Amino acid sequence: MDLIERIGRDGHESVVFVSEPASGYRGIIAIHSTRRGPALGGTRLWNYDNGDQAINDALRLAEGMTYKAAAAGMPWGGGKSVIIADPTKIDRKKIFHAHGRAVEKLRGQYITSVDIGTGPDDMVWVKEETTHVGGLPAPFGSPSPATARGVQRAIEAALLEVCGTADASGRTVAIQGVGNVGYGLARGLHDVGATLVVSDVDTARAKRVAEEFGARVVPVDRIHAEKVDVFAPCAFGAGLNETTIPQLRCGIIAGAANNQLATAADAKRLADRGIAYAPDFIANAGGLIYLGQEVLGWTAEQTMAKVDGIFETVRQVFQRGAKQNVTTADAAVSLAKERL
Ligand code: NAD
Repeated sequence: MDLIERIGRDGHESVVFVSEPASGYRGIIAIHSTRRGPALGGTRLWNYDNGDQAINDALRLAEGMTYKAAAAGMPWGGGKSVIIADPTKIDRKKIFHAHGRAVEKLRGQYITSVDIGTGPDDMVWVKEETTHVGGLPAPFGSPSPATARGVQRAIEAALLEVCGTADASGRTVAIQGVGNVGYGLARGLHDVGATLVVSDVDTARAKRVAEEFGARVVPVDRIHAEKVDVFAPCAFGAGLNETTIPQLRCGIIAGAANNQLATAADAKRLADRGIAYAPDFIANAGGLIYLGQEVLGWTAEQTMAKVDGIFETVRQVFQRGAKQNVTTADAAVSLAKERL
């Protein structure tokens, strides 16, 4: 589909192509919506095979951010930038200075932060050129603990829906990937008395969770098929698909990974199996909400209260899905669109 036709269909407000040959900076800043406030979304640095892939990523991710911010009740719209570069061959300082200048030209319509391929140190360079940036190393630091807290609230809301009580004690949770978010989730669930099953391609990480929280470690290709109350994907996207869904033996799915469903049809596959799915962009919004401290000047208490609000949002999504006889994935998008 032609780009103009596509942005007309998906509703992007603007798509800016940016380039600064002297520094090797090339990319796209996509603004999907500023209806609720400035468009917020991280900067992805990736060595895309071609421009179409980069455009597709920028458009798709910007639209996703609109729904994520709206569903979480944040006063932001959705945007995203992608920088097309081979990370082994760039001068990061020059690239992120150039990016900061490009963000500044948008005069606050777009606020950037970190994403795949970029980190807090890169945002320090962006900050030298624009104030419209979050995700800096200090004073707030990593959003992952807030993301983990939000996922735990999503699990509790799903437990209330399925089991009639939000109490996770005595429940068994399988966590796929115990990195920044998965580790925090394991700690939080252990603290309330849940039993843990974990896997990670990095065996040292899995071992640490086993030692600290008494988790049982299983092979990475088996974690999704463990017989548990909750399966929490916290590693990568598209892990719920036509192959893995028939193998699931859980009642609930709630995790941090982005784009957990490989295709839209997978939401229906889960529903047909009677598995309650807490949509990823609702469950993992804690990291976005965490930026409220940095960008909106919220206190830590205000921010954490908003993260805890994920419990109520997940409940609303389940209720809406049941009432309208649609999947929770569809219910989440319709809730977000309504809040626009
Ligand atoms: P991370 O890189 O710290 O952790 C991911 C973990 O998954 C790593 O320990 C990695 O070794 C492991 N892993 C990779 N492949 C695996 C496999 N096949 N099986 C099992 N484990 C595997 O990343 P993170 O920051 O913890 O984020 C986890 C997920 O949550 C990502 O999909 C991310 O996009 C999403 N997310 C994170 C945040 C945040 O605040 N960090 C916010 C929203 C969404």
